[in-house]
Amino acid sequence: MNIWVATQNSHKVEEITSILSPIKVKSFLDLKNPPDVDENGSTYSENALIKAKALYDIVHEPVFADDSGLEVDALDGKPGIHSARFSGPDTNHARNVAKMLEVMKDVPDEKRTARFRCVIVYIDEKGKTHEFTGILEGKIGYKPLGNGGFGYDPIFMLPEKNCSVAQLSADEKNVISHRAYALEKFKKYLNNNE
Ligand code: IMP
Repeated sequence: MNIWVATQNSHKVEEITSILSPIKVKSFLDLKNPPDVDENGSTYSENALIKAKALYDIVHEPVFADDSGLEVDALDGKPGIHSARFSGPDTNHARNVAKMLEVMKDVPDEKRTARFRCVIVYIDEKGKTHEFTGILEGKIGYKPLGNGGFGYDPIFMLPEKNCSVAQLSADEKNVISHRAYALEKFKKYLNNNE
């Protein structure tokens, strides 16, 4: 079975391929001219649907897209859907991490709770949409730790494991991540509806 995922992020394609295996996953990286998608929705669901629809309109096969972000309680759930651009429009993960540490520097330990949320929107072969959500709870740390993962992983602490997500191996992250939970729900749905 072939499924398309609307992402250009090779890191994500790797994570997704490993979690959905043996289902074969194709992505924007397999297209000669991937569409330039404007993620201008106001929720994770809207953004995921915008990406999925852009791909569906090209391949006319089952597709899905995910949208995810970091929600920090002390920042009233921000940056949320703006996680990739937290420190400005043309930025990178390191600057986002630095800004997060700066805005959180006076926040006490018990108020540093946060979560990653991932929403997957699937458009099936009939064009019907389905949604799956996964959440990973944790806390914002005080300095970057570890070299794995991407984004906010070095400062996203898992109190039960006493380490950051960037200190996990890829396989360990793929078992507990917000994306993994959403993908597991999605995989179950696919297995029950083949
Ligand atoms: P996307 O919607 O998955 O592209 O995620 C948007 C942004 O949320 C990323 O650029 C990261 O800043 C953050 N993010 C999402 N998932 C993760 C993760 O697994 N680890 C760290 N940061 C993440």
